[in-house]
Amino acid sequence: MAELPRVAPLANAFRALTGSASELIELAGGMVFTEGPVWLAAQQKLIWSDVRGNRMHGWTKAEGVSVYRDPSDVSNGNTLDGDGRLITCQMGARRVVRTEHDGSVTVLAETYKGGRLNSPNDVVVKSDGTIWFTDPDYGLLGGRAGPGDEKEQEGNFVFRLDPSSGELTVVADDFDKPNGLAFTPDERKLYIADSGRTHREDAPHHIRVFDVEGGKTLKDGRVFAEIEPHIPDGLRIAPDGKVFTSAGDGVQVFTPEGELIGKFLTPEVAANCCFGGPEGDTLFITASSSVWSVRLNIAA
Ligand code: MG
Repeated sequence: MAELPRVAPLANAFRALTGSASELIELAGGMVFTEGPVWLAAQQKLIWSDVRGNRMHGWTKAEGVSVYRDPSDVSNGNTLDGDGRLITCQMGARRVVRTEHDGSVTVLAETYKGGRLNSPNDVVVKSDGTIWFTDPDYGLLGGRAGPGDEKEQEGNFVFRLDPSSGELTVVADDFDKPNGLAFTPDERKLYIADSGRTHREDAPHHIRVFDVEGGKTLKDGRVFAEIEPHIPDGLRIAPDGKVFTSAGDGVQVFTPEGELIGKFLTPEVAANCCFGGPEGDTLFITASSSVWSVRLNIAA
């Protein structure tokens, strides 16, 4: 039976983080599979993807839930670049796109070495403007495969894209299903989730952490944490370095040293989370059919 939504501390460090918050607030329901939350500060609006619903939605405190993009080309992960433009992984269209300030959509990446990408899943932008994204093959599995949906890449890679030159390079090639990713605040490390267990019980369900070398390449990938139950999907890093990762029972919080200090329990599988809100201190969680929020005791 699913746990009721609530804040579940395992250590005092988590109680300090949550302050007096004791429950999660439901912002939206009735979705199919929510992912890719991102807070648009300029509009005071939360955006997310309903991946299997093939739509994107928005929420504001004043107006509640609205449709942002329909259809969405099976959009998944979202983030903002340094200019506040939305960067989106479109699993269905097998590409990464940017939504310009005038609403037009620019394709940033769709092929590598002459073959189409698998199905970009999640994305993060570094302070130098480069765009790092994962390309597992989920979009080619699960019944949507057909003529034209063949896999054209030799692996499920993690890419670094320089949008100024269009140069696309592989930064990791040894993942089963690379998924959520996030830099530490100093950008010296990059966390990447491997969610392979979705398709094979003995496959990875962990987060790895890499050293970022010269701002461009990764080295010394090691397992940061095994995630139970289910898998790590999307993840975000708090300003103080704590790791907030999705899991089968909600969002789990780890110290940078890898200690699990508490959980935000959701009734269904959580796929991602993000920070935002008017004060920058709200955690938003996309959890299957619903979206939740909880205020934290953190500095923006
Ligand atoms: Mg994902």
